[in-house]
Amino acid sequence: MVLVKQRTLSFGERYYFKTIVVGLIYTFKNLFRKKVTRSYPEERLDPSPSFGGVPVLVANEDGHPRCVACGLCEFVCPPRAIEITGTETERAIERVPKTFTIDYLRCIECSYCEEVCPEEAIVMSQQYELVGSSRGSLKLGLDELLTPASELSTRLEYIRKTYHRFQVAPATEANASCVPGVGGTGSGVAGTAVSSAKRRYEDNY
Ligand code: SF4
Ligand code: SF4
Repeated sequence: MVLVKQRTLSFGERYYFKTIVVGLIYTFKNLFRKKVTRSYPEERLDPSPSFGGVPVLVANEDGHPRCVACGLCEFVCPPRAIEITGTETERAIERVPKTFTIDYLRCIECSYCEEVCPEEAIVMSQQYELVGSSRGSLKLGLDELLTPASELSTRLEYIRKTYHRFQVAPATEANASCVPGVGGTGSGVAGTAVSSAKRRYEDNY
């Protein structure tokens, strides 16, 4: 058998004086601290370039999509949110999307499509508020997805740095023969890819 001796509580302990005073001190101290929360939606978020909202398609100055309907983004998309039908065109890029839909209800904003796109034709926007009156209204087509490149310049610059696009690899004995402008002729798979990417970038089609 264990005997437990009951402790007699003091007057302050019985009426929680000490606890109340400690709580009030803590509250007053925090009244004057810098706020770490935001009163959304009155105070809106100003996303940084690294922020990835829902994906959109990049339109050039002439209004045409950069997309060449290669299907890589459709293939890589984990929840199968992208559907593309390609068609031929007289433009230099030869192939364009006839239809291009992204189901924002399926999209998990993983940015794989942006990462894999060889044309910088699909990028993550800064749009983080999605509201729709039906499931169908959040399945966007080509016209709704197309966004002028000028509005996406911050993100385009960011991904160019992040994915090291259009940067020629330093010459080494192994790759010197295939990297254009670095002692090579630009032949070979790597050289062809780099030179064609550079050409497209300079042409900005
Ligand atoms: S961000 Fe991810 S889930 Fe969304 S469309 Fe692109 S690949 Fe698919
Ligand atoms: S958006 Fe990019 S990856 Fe997707 S089909 Fe067009 S060019 Fe290919």
